[in-house]
Amino acid sequence: MPEVLVLIERVEVDGVREVTKPSLELLTIARRLGDPSAVVIGSPDADVAGTLKKYGAAKIYSVSTGEGAEDAGVSGYLVAPEAEVLAQLIEKTSPAAVLVVSTGRGKEIAGRLAVKTESGLITDAVDVTAADGTPTTKQSVFAGSFVVQARVTKGTPIITVKPNSVTPEEVDGAGSDVAEEAFAVTISDAAKGAKVTGAEPRKASGRPELTEAAIVVSGGRGTGGDFEPIQAFADSLGAAVGASRAAVDSGWYPHSFQVGQTGKTVSPQLYVANGISGAIQHRAGMQTSKTIVAVNTDEEAPIFELVDFGVVGDLHTVLPAATDAINRG
Ligand code: FAD
Repeated sequence: MPEVLVLIERVEVDGVREVTKPSLELLTIARRLGDPSAVVIGSPDADVAGTLKKYGAAKIYSVSTGEGAEDAGVSGYLVAPEAEVLAQLIEKTSPAAVLVVSTGRGKEIAGRLAVKTESGLITDAVDVTAADGTPTTKQSVFAGSFVVQARVTKGTPIITVKPNSVTPEEVDGAGSDVAEEAFAVTISDAAKGAKVTGAEPRKASGRPELTEAAIVVSGGRGTGGDFEPIQAFADSLGAAVGASRAAVDSGWYPHSFQVGQTGKTVSPQLYVANGISGAIQHRAGMQTSKTIVAVNTDEEAPIFELVDFGVVGDLHTVLPAATDAINRG
């Protein structure tokens, strides 16, 4: 089986480095295409390596320039060195595909890698299969009006996959014969053009990251500016909070939580839209959610065309009642 390179993202939460959930999703997808090889910048500690093995990594590359355990020679600079690392690994392994998480950062790495290796690039895939042995992707385009299938026809398929496209699956009996291999790289001076001068670890808010969350509870203009019921309901479900553009433009919730065409794209297992009409630009950011629920006072609201379950009612009444019921168990 050919290798499939998966660029692993780690995040520091409360001083502990963890593999992000979207990286585990990539390992699950990689298993459909070949043998997943996890690419870790620096050396993974035992917990990280254990998690990667549990989710199906057949090999782990610990990438090193020799500049310290966390490898400042790569992670001390912005983006470009990671593209060089992956290009060198493509040279070494001739993989069936390279998978990267579809964040702004991930897409920049993938774009640079595609140019460097003269390979085709597909961004924002929501599914990847190995039809006829070739990686084949699905993407939602034109604000969700079409789902297209695509394949890379030149070089190594480089694919960025949106978070929450699949559920990460553990592998039975994984880990027994996983090879851990140190991979020494040399980074060019050109790739060291932008240096990281400071980093603040993400503060644990108690809520999951919006684009990674399995459940998202969003509020729109119908909140009238009161996000308290939205947040309380989200917390009862362990969900992230999102917002429509009308809500963020009114200054009711920070811009970084906007869902939609000009905001974040989410694809959770469950999306609950409260006081949101369902404009096409909002749908573009959430319509690939697996189950959609809406609470709206207007039974004619366009959001109801999209939902699996709809509640016609005032969110200020419906949400506190639902929160109460969930919290009571
Ligand atoms: P509204 O459309 O005003 O809907 C409010 C809804 O709340 C109504 O359906 C109403 O019936 C309901 N309601 C009122 N009171 C209650 C209550 N008490 N309980 C329950 N329901 C209630 N929008 C985005 O969201 N994300 C984007 O990324 C985005 N990008 C855009 C990009 C462009 C180029 C443009 C032109 C627009 C963009 N928009 C985006 C804006 C979009 O067109 C809509 O204006 C916006 O989504 C509307 O937000 P809303 O649904 O919260 O408000």
